[in-house]
Amino acid sequence: MEQNQRIILVERPDGMPDETHLKMETAAIAEPGEGQVLLKTIYLSLDPYMRGRMNAGPSYAPRVELGDVMVGGAVSQVVASKHPEWQAGDFVVTRSGWQSYAVVDGNRLRRVDPKLAAISTALGVLGMPGFTAYAGLLNIGKPQPGETVVVAAASGAVGQVVGQIAKLKGCRVVGVAGAEDKCKYVVDELGFDACVNYKSDDFPAQLAAACPDGIDVYFENVGGRVLSAVIGLLNDFSRMPVCGLIAQYNGTELPLEHNELPKLMRAVLTHRVLIRGFIQSDFQADFPQFLRDMSEWVRNGDVKYREDVVQGLENAVSAFQGLLVGRNRGKMLVQVAEDPSR
Ligand code: NAP
Repeated sequence: MEQNQRIILVERPDGMPDETHLKMETAAIAEPGEGQVLLKTIYLSLDPYMRGRMNAGPSYAPRVELGDVMVGGAVSQVVASKHPEWQAGDFVVTRSGWQSYAVVDGNRLRRVDPKLAAISTALGVLGMPGFTAYAGLLNIGKPQPGETVVVAAASGAVGQVVGQIAKLKGCRVVGVAGAEDKCKYVVDELGFDACVNYKSDDFPAQLAAACPDGIDVYFENVGGRVLSAVIGLLNDFSRMPVCGLIAQYNGTELPLEHNELPKLMRAVLTHRVLIRGFIQSDFQADFPQFLRDMSEWVRNGDVKYREDVVQGLENAVSAFQGLLVGRNRGKMLVQVAEDPSR
C-alpha cells in the first residue's frame, strides 16, 4: 500500500542544515475529514525563508516545532475531497509541507489553472516569489522611467522577476549574481542592461561602472558585501525595499568585515534614502491584480522565468543546501510526483 513520505525537523541546525536535522520517514496516508481534502504533492517549493523556520528564536512567522513536517508551499492534485468546492483531479496550491500526501482544510487552497501556464509556476513567477517581486518593487521601490534599479540574487526566483518588471517600467536594470552564467542569463535571456558578479575581486568598482548615474532603487535580497558596495552609490531620494538577507541566514559568520552601519546611516541621511523591510503578505490585497498582470506578462513573453527542478523528495535536503549557497539556477522546486497536467 502506498505510504506518505515526509521530511521531519528532528534537530535545529546551527549553520547549514543536513540529514541529521531533516529526516525522511514514512507514515500512513490520512483520510480527509469533513471540510478537508487529501492532496498528492506534485511540486514542492524550496525557499530561503525555510531556513529561518528551523531556528528556535522569534521571527515574523512561527517556527517549525521539532517532530513536525517541514513547512513549504506545494502544487498538488486533489485525490479525495470532503469539501464542496473541490473535486478529485483539481490542481491546487497550498502550504502542505515537505511530504508526498497531505490532508488539509479545503478553505486554505488556491485553484491552479493548468491552461494558464505550467502548474509549477504557481510556486514561482505566478506564485509567492513572483508576488514578492511585484509587491516590493511597485509599492516600495516605485521605479520611474529612466531610473537605475539594482537587484541582488538577480537570477533567482524573486530577482529575475524584479528585474523584468523594472524593465517594463522603463528603468535601467543592473543585476548582481554569484556566477558568470547567472549574469549571462539575466542579460542575454531576460534583457537586464548589465549584471555584476559579487564574487569578483573588484566587484565594488564593477558595480559603480555598471551604474554611471548612481542607484535609485536597490532591491535587497542578500545583505553582506552586495549591500556594502551599494551604499556609496545611492542617489538622493533612492528607495530600498528590504526583501531578504540570505547572506546572513545560516548565521555562522559575520556578514560584513567591519561595521558599516555609520556609513549606511550617513547615506540614509544625506541622500534621504527610504529603507523599508517587507513581508510579501503585507500586500496581500494586491494579489488578484498581480495575478492578472503577471499572467498577461508571462503569456505574451514580457516576463520569462527559469525553474530548477530536482527529482524526488529524497533529494530535497541537498537541493535546499544548494539554494543556500547559490547552486540553483532559477526557482528551486522538487518534483515529488509525475505532473499529470503535462
Ligand atoms: P533565489 O534567489 O532563487 O535563491 C537564493 C539565491 O541567493 C542563491 O541562488 C544565491 O544566488 C543567493 N545567495 C545565497 N547565498 C548568498 C550570499 N552569501 N550572498 C549573496 N547571495 C547569496 O531565492 P528567492 O526565493 O528568490 O529569494 C531571494 C531572497 O528573497 C531571499 O533573501 C529570500 O529570503 C527573500 N524573500 C523574501 C520574501 C518576503 O516576503 N520578504 C519572500 C520571498 C523571498 P547567487 O549565486 O547569485 O549568490
